Order: sequence, then structure tokens, then C-alpha cells
Amino acid sequence: MRGANFGGSPDRRILIVGGGFGAVYTALGLEKLLKPEDRTEVTLVNPENFFLFTPMLAEIVSSQIDTSHAINPLRRMFKRTRFVEGAAKSIDLAAQSVLVRHPNGDEFGYPYDHLVIAVGARVGYFGMEDVEKNSYTAKTLGDAIRLRNRAIALLEIAEIERNPDSRAEILTLVVAGGGFTGVEVAAEINDLIRQAAKSYPSITQRDLRVILVEAKNRILPEFDEGLAAFATKRLRASGVELRTNTTVAGVTDHAVLIKDQDPIPSRTLIWNTGVAPNPLIAGSDLPQTGRGWVKVDATMRAEGWANVWALGDCAQIPDILNPGHNQPALAQHAIREAPALARNIVASMRGEVAQPFHYRTMGQLATLGHFNGIGTIGPFRVQGLVAWLAWRSYYLWRLPRLEKRLRVATDWTVDLIFGRDISQIQTYAATSPKGRDLEDDLYGNPNDEPSTVKGTHR
Ligand SMILES: Cc1cc2nc3c(=O)[nH]c(=O)nc-3n(C[C@H](O)[C@H](O)[C@H](O)COP(=O)(O)OP(=O)(O)OC[C@H]3O[C@@H](n4cnc5c(N)ncnc54)[C@H](O)[C@@H]3O)c2cc1C
Repeated sequence: MRGANFGGSPDRRILIVGGGFGAVYTALGLEKLLKPEDRTEVTLVNPENFFLFTPMLAEIVSSQIDTSHAINPLRRMFKRTRFVEGAAKSIDLAAQSVLVRHPNGDEFGYPYDHLVIAVGARVGYFGMEDVEKNSYTAKTLGDAIRLRNRAIALLEIAEIERNPDSRAEILTLVVAGGGFTGVEVAAEINDLIRQAAKSYPSITQRDLRVILVEAKNRILPEFDEGLAAFATKRLRASGVELRTNTTVAGVTDHAVLIKDQDPIPSRTLIWNTGVAPNPLIAGSDLPQTGRGWVKVDATMRAEGWANVWALGDCAQIPDILNPGHNQPALAQHAIREAPALARNIVASMRGEVAQPFHYRTMGQLATLGHFNGIGTIGPFRVQGLVAWLAWRSYYLWRLPRLEKRLRVATDWTVDLIFGRDISQIQTYAATSPKGRDLEDDLYGNPNDEPSTVKGTHR
């Protein structure tokens, strides 16, 4: 195997599994620290060949940012790290090797001297299989594309639906989970369908319903009560209905089931609550917490393994500034854990002592759509337009690579002038209409027998 990092045969190999904030910024940190004389090859393995900037995902859903503008090709982000497209299937800690499955089905073992686990977390469904099978999520780029298409498909089909009950079901979207991402997704999808509906003559604003369901007695537990109350008021003003103190109990083809309440007639549940560990961890001998996260010390070294490290959402990293607590699962933490982890790997390669990671959250910003936001920046609380502008400025600055920043800034400007693009990104090829099956539940599969002709549409 060629030593892609420095052009020779490596003395040491560092293998990074994952391609999110933790993994990518660890690779970039190592690129800064490692010298050619270290003769160390860094390899990063991820199933997708791009890095997704998740804070902008809700804006991809709402069509404010073009699909490919908040992602960055990993090969363009790295100067010396070797990128390999594939998914880690299993880890052999004793043999120091990770089995990787590539898109063509080939599987290879990747040996390592140091291993970094940064596989993030999965969506958790609390054992509700119906929800897992029949809901939409907002975690990956594919999710965002699917959700945006779904929202527009709902409007298209409602425009021709004449049964009022079916129409009401189609135009009602339920979002489960009133945390930070649930609120952002509800706000953005609400903005999208309300703005898009203006192009559909038979759909009025009153026909549209976005219902946010939250188990606690208020939304946004990440923020103080005042900011959460501001968000509640603004969401309601923009048309989002809030149901607190209750949970989604299941989903059918025509309704979202709500605990101790009447079902909500709806064909679209967006699931934004619950996290679960990546199955790669459960299937390995990595030290794990009771909930299945990788157990590491404050230097991010896995307990009992001197050359295995983990960071980001998949790891439970003790917070030494706040004893008894762990680093939160946030990009702003993963992005700071990564260079500290890179320093610790290099220190341990050079026989030096690894240092504990510490970082205090700087604050948090959330968009509420419609020129609104809330947030804390150090000791300051911000809300409304100021928070929205702060959100846009901060995340634009944080988005990797100038090219993508320019593209996103252009998207935002064009959106302000011309409104949202409401074209559905259909995936079927001219030779095969089968790609349309994403929306089969709304349209029926085009390969099926034609359904009953319902007469002439007025
Ligand atoms: C919609 C949304 C909005 C968010 N907004 C914010 C925000 O505004 N601010 C903030 O601080 N945080 C935000 N977060 C949280 C933030 O995205 C996460 O905390 C952060 O992404 C964690 O980084 P990570 O590297 O641990 O995991 P991830 O970024 O999730 O990356 C995990 C990577 O591992 C890869 N992977 C998984 N399994 C395998 C395998 N078997 N083999 C190889 N690779 C694998 C995945 O493909 C992925 O690339 C948001 C999250 C979401 C979903």
C-alpha cells in the first residue's frame, strides 16, 4: 500500500473512522502536526466522500441552501490525508485492524498503529418499529433531500386532491422532538411550505399545519426559559402548532399517534428525538458505557487501550471543568476535541504525556426561520433578528472552504430576492421510472396498474 501522506512506505499508520466534525478536524490537526520525518500515514474512512456541515442541514431542507453547497468533498479538504470511501464493519483491537467494506462490495482489513473512532450517533426510536420504518429524519444529506422533496410533493398532490379529509392529512406535517434540531427543522419546513404554497392556487395558508410535539413541558431545554418562551411565541406566530407534555406513540399510513390524545391525521412524521450508538461500537470490544458510547478518559483515550481514541458524539468524554458531567454532543465541542486529540496522538507517538481536553461552551445559536433566532454568546442573550444575523454570520464563517462560503452567501441573497426554489429533485432516469419510489406512498408506483379514473378534474 502506497504511503500517500509523504510518498514513502510508512513506519506508522493512523486510521480515522468517520467523516464528520470529529474525524475531519482530527485529520486536519494531524496534517498540521506531523512532519515528513514522522513517516506516518493518516487514512480516513467514511461511507460518503464529503463532509456535511450539519448546522446548515435544516436550511437545505427548506431550500434556502442548494443541496451541494453545505457539503465539502473530503479530497479537497485534505492535503496529505488519504481518503478511502467505505464503511467500517468490524474492529479487531487485538490484531490492530479494521475491516472496511467498500461501495463495490470488496472488503479489506486496514491495519493501524493508532485508531480514532469518530462515527457519531444514530437516530434512536425507543423501540418503535413503525416510527423507524415510516418517519423522516434530518441527520444526513440524503435525509434533507428526501424531506425537501416530500414537502413539495405534498403540495403538488394536495393541489389535485379533492377529498377534504385526505387533503387535510396531506397538508399536516408532524415534527417529533422540540429540542434544538427539531425546532430548527419545524421552523424551516414551515417556512418552506408556507412560502411555496403561494404558487399553488388551491392551497391557502390555513390549510397548512406543522405540529411540533415535545415530551417536556417546554421546547428548547438547551436554552433558558425566557429564550424558549420567545421561540414559542415566534413559532406560533409563524403558524407552527406546539404540543408539549406529550409524545408520539406511533404512526400509521394516515395518522400520527399521540400518547393519551386523539391521533393527528397526517401522512408525514419527521422524527427529531432520540439518539442511539453506532452499531459498530456495540459489535466491538471497545470499552463502552451502559448506554453504548465509547468510554474514554479526558485525553480521549479508550479505557484499557493505549492506541485507541474516540471523540465527538460517539464518545463519552468526561468534562474536567464540570466534574460528573461529560462533553456535550455538539459540533462546536467536536471541532475543539479534534485538535486536542491530534496533539495527544502525536505526543504519545513521541513518548510524551497526553493532556486532558477541556473546553467551556461559548454559547449556542438556533434559527427559528423567518428572520428569527435565539441564542447565547458568552454572557449575552440574543433573540430575533440579531440572533438570526449572528447565526448566519457565525456559521458562514465556520463553513469550511471559501468556495462553499461564497455559494451559500449567494444562495441566501438569491433566496431573499426571488424566494425559494420549489422544483422537486426527481431521481428517476429516463429509461427507468423506478427511481420515483421515494414518493410511491403519495403517487403510487408508476409501474403499477393505473388506479381508478376519477372523472374530469375541475
Ligand atoms: C440537523 C442538525 C443540526 C445541528 N446543528 C448543530 C449546531 O448548530 N451546532 C452544534 O454545535 N451542533 C449541531 N449539531 C450536532 C453536530 O452535528 C454533532 O454534534 C456533530 O456532527 C458530531 O460530530 P461527529 O464527528 O461526532 O459525528 P458526525 O458529524 O455525525 O459524523 C459521523 C461520521 O461517521 C460516519 N460513519 C458512521 N458509521 C461509520 C462506519 N461504520 N464507518 C465509517 N464511517 C462511519 C458517518 O458517515 C459520518 O460521516 C447538529 C446536528 C444535526 C443532525
